[in-house]
Amino acid sequence: MKFSLFNQRLAIVLALALGVASFYATYKAIGNIVAEQSRVQQQAVSPVFELVGDELLRPLYIAETFASSIKFTTAMDSSEIDESALLERLQKMQQDLGLVFFVASEQSQKQYFSDGSTLDLIEGDVAWYFQAKESGKDFMADLGQVGDVHLFFDVKIYGPDREFLGYVGVGKPVQRFLNTFNAYKSRYNYDFLFVNDRNEIILSSLPELVVTDAYIPTLESTAWFPNVGTSQQSYDSEIIRVEDEDFLVSEFAIEELGWRLLLLVPLEARQAQVTNAFVSNSLATAFVVLLLAGSFLLLLILYKNNIERKTELDALTGLPNRSFVQRRFEELRRAGVELCAIIIDLDYFKSINDTHGHDAGDRVLRAAANTLRQELRDEDIVSRWGGEEFVMIIPATSIDLGTGIAERARQDLENRTIETREASLSVTASFGVAFGSASDESLDELLARADEMLYQAKQNGRNRVEVDMSGQKARRFGTAAADAAV
Ligand code: GH3
Ligand code: MG
Ligand code: MG
Repeated sequence: MKFSLFNQRLAIVLALALGVASFYATYKAIGNIVAEQSRVQQQAVSPVFELVGDELLRPLYIAETFASSIKFTTAMDSSEIDESALLERLQKMQQDLGLVFFVASEQSQKQYFSDGSTLDLIEGDVAWYFQAKESGKDFMADLGQVGDVHLFFDVKIYGPDREFLGYVGVGKPVQRFLNTFNAYKSRYNYDFLFVNDRNEIILSSLPELVVTDAYIPTLESTAWFPNVGTSQQSYDSEIIRVEDEDFLVSEFAIEELGWRLLLLVPLEARQAQVTNAFVSNSLATAFVVLLLAGSFLLLLILYKNNIERKTELDALTGLPNRSFVQRRFEELRRAGVELCAIIIDLDYFKSINDTHGHDAGDRVLRAAANTLRQELRDEDIVSRWGGEEFVMIIPATSIDLGTGIAERARQDLENRTIETREASLSVTASFGVAFGSASDESLDELLARADEMLYQAKQNGRNRVEVDMSGQKARRFGTAAADAAV
């Protein structure tokens, strides 16, 4: 029986490859988890800023640019305002920019609209103008336009000497905001609440909180407001309950407007996201752990086998030893295999040691081991039993084949010359052969019969093969026990 060193190396390489692969998989999995989390975070927040910029700040910037253009302030500063030119310009801007415009002039005490209409600024009728003028604020965002509620961004107009000249207003229909919100909502699955400094909900994607001509909802009026505290409270990832559904609320300040944006993320969706991330991370981790455990186990098995094999090898000849034969015989016994056992003892070996020295004796033992190995198939075993004795186990064979193998080994040995430093030596051996079934007989019993034959061979002049036929008889006529019973 030869040890397949190649297989052993292959297995070690495989285990190492598995180890490297699992390390790489861990590295990749961690990288993916980090990337995925960053992506989810970024995806959650960046569209909000996009939304604020596009929807809210753009009209504000347009109003500011308009209010500070020199051509415009000069026109507003003159004692006679060219009304038709102003109305025409407002109309053109409405067409070009898709927003509603107005100018309120302190000079003419009139308000001009981009739809071509005008309105006299009479205290009591147009309350906002007089309040805003006195408030000292340069900017306000307010709701207006009865019938089709618009959000207006109003910016004060100043003349060259900082004298108050009126207001520029840029308006956008609330419905247009809602359409955009709905698009965001279906894509990112969150709701918006834009709240001003008076806690009024100016814009909202929740239908029940949408402003109308008659009603501006406030934060205090929401069912969930009392749950989260006072108007000064800032929401930082708190959980609120709206109509039996839990939402995660985050707050963003929109400093340009003095507003706050409340972002409501349904918790179910959030939970699903987190659960998905958790499941995929756990799977990846489990996979890596399994791989690592697998490679570790494989290495352990290899190591164990290696140790076992080393302890089953004879150091001098490299042949398997007694314990290996005993283990293999146990396997053959379980398989119920018929086999030949051959005991080989070198002839007059003592005299080789005595004449040429112990080292020459060792050399002869190694040469004899190599010679005996030559005749065998992979499944056959030749072992060093001890001293200058060897045992062959030839499974799945007939007595004739086993005898043939023994005879050829005897001749090989006889014909071989063994070179030592001092002399060319030759050695012969005597062979005892026994045939039997591994399931009927123990190894000791089988070898006892073979040993008997070896003794015969020595008696009959050495350098011979003697065969025990009783096992063969058992095979022909049944088991030994059956024979005894007859
Ligand atoms: P026979 O033909 O009757 O077997 O004669 P023999 O000389 O071979 O008989 P015996 O069994 O008495 O001698 C075996 C000798 O083998 C005795 C021992 O010194 C020697 N021997 C045993 N193991 C080793 C070993 O590992 N190396 C060497 N060099 N000699 C060994
Ligand atoms: Mg002996
Ligand atoms: Mg001997």
